[in-house]
Amino acid sequence: MHHGDGGGAVARCVRCGAEAAGPCARCHAPVCGDCCVLTEGGARVWAICLACEDRGGRSLRRGWALVLGWIALPIAALALVVALLEWLRRG
Ligand SMILES: [Zn+2]
Ligand SMILES: [Zn+2]
Repeated sequence: MHHGDGGGAVARCVRCGAEAAGPCARCHAPVCGDCCVLTEGGARVWAICLACEDRGGRSLRRGWALVLGWIALPIAALALVVALLEWLRRG
């Protein structure tokens, strides 16, 4: 961490504004000890913020919902384009 030597430049928690304990492993936002959770992903323990945990950092089901969303979104966009082309051809 290169956080200057001017003093007073303490990283603040993005959620509650308290002095941050460290960056979130996922979004790298500074979070304090109260606003992060520890997750055991493998060889080492990560600290992730509650927002990232909410987004499915630890929950497999929510992770799958996110994956399905990423799959469904392009399909929906494609269907929209096809419908638009069809409409243009008729008009
Ligand atoms: Zn906090
Ligand atoms: Zn995060």
